[in-house]
Parts: sequence; structure tokens; C-alpha cells
Amino acid sequence: MRVLLVEDEHRISAYVKRGLEEQGYAVDVAYTGREALDWAAVVEFDLIVLDVLLPQVNGLTVCRELRSKNVRTPILMLTARDSVDDRVAGLDAGADDYLVKPFAIKELLARLRALARRAGDVPKMTVLQVGDLTLDVRTHRVVRGDKPIELSPKEFAVLECLMREPSRVLSRTVIAEHVWNYETYNDSNVVDVYVRNLRRKLDEAYELKLIRTVRGAGYSISADQDEAN
Ligand code: CA
Repeated sequence: MRVLLVEDEHRISAYVKRGLEEQGYAVDVAYTGREALDWAAVVEFDLIVLDVLLPQVNGLTVCRELRSKNVRTPILMLTARDSVDDRVAGLDAGADDYLVKPFAIKELLARLRALARRAGDVPKMTVLQVGDLTLDVRTHRVVRGDKPIELSPKEFAVLECLMREPSRVLSRTVIAEHVWNYETYNDSNVVDVYVRNLRRKLDEAYELKLIRTVRGAGYSISADQDEAN
């Protein structure tokens, strides 16, 4: 999941970025409303976390402008003031939810999971399954058969990306765009490295290999033996 975080206070954006990255989100930070609009014009984010109080162009204007450009990405507004007017203005501007500062990272994560579930292209269930492999989006537990598998946050994110669309071949770029932010993603070899790790942890000990390489196209995950290569 790739998140655009829009917050001008560096202390807060650094704190939130770290909290999200620990859970495997890829995070790009914009420090002004203008920057946020520039980012959103070139990258399709899965979620946007948008502070209301920003220099120059404020969060409400950014939100309205994104919606008027048909950007449908779920938006969570951050507001410093616990005022009804502020919240109503945010929702009126096209935000999907809001969170009053200060907030716990835990609550932010819960809100983002709820928004991702509500977004049309994301399956409603929090447990994804391919064959005997299950991945719990909420608890970050991955189990094959009855064996729990320890994954790093990025390994988990790559696997989640594949498991959300079983059998579909995802290119390295598509995987990278959902898992890494701009600073790291220009080297798509990084995807190969993580897939290699996943194979070692998930597939090595089993006869039925779930992760498939489609030459020249990318990777897919499937328990269907006919598709095995
Ligand atoms: Ca701010």
C-alpha cells in the first residue's frame, strides 16, 4: 500500500512516516499543499493522509482540487481542532474520514485499514488466502498449512500485493509502486530480491510452489497446478 502523507510539521510527518513504514506501507511525504497536488498528479496512491493546516494551499483546498480532478483515492484528514465545523468542512471537501490531532499511530492505522477496505478495488476481507497460505492483513500473521511464517514488513507488503489479486501477473513496476516510495523504487531489482526471500520462506519446503515467475512479465501467486511453470 502506497500512502501520500501531507504534513508540514516535520516532527509529526517523520513520526507518522516511521509508524506507517513499520507496518509495511510505502510512504511519500509532501510538506505543502502544492507539493501534494504535484505528487497526486503523477502517482496513483492507495491512500492519502492530509493535514488541514498547511502553508499556502490548505488541506481543504487540496482535497477539493483532487476530487475535482477525479482523484478517487481515499483521503483521511488530520485536524488539530476538535471543532464540528472543521470536520464537516473536511467531509464536504471530499474527505472520507478525519482524525483529530494528537492521535495514536494505532488509531491512524485502524482508520487507514478501514478506508482501504471501503475502497472499491480492495477485497473486504482482512484474511487473504491462496491454497494453504493465509495472510491476515490486520494481525500481519502469515501461515502456510499450520506453520507460521515470519516476514519482514516489506516482504509482507510484496506478498499482500500478490495475494490481493491471485493468478494475476503483476509486473515488477506495479509491485514496486505499491510497496516502495519514490526514493527507493527506481531500482526494480529490489522486487526480485524480496520475491527470492519470499520463495525461500514460503515455497522452498513445499512441493507445490505458489509464487510463479512469468518471464518478461513479472510475478503471480496461485495454488492452481495447471498454471505451474
Ligand atoms: Ca500542519
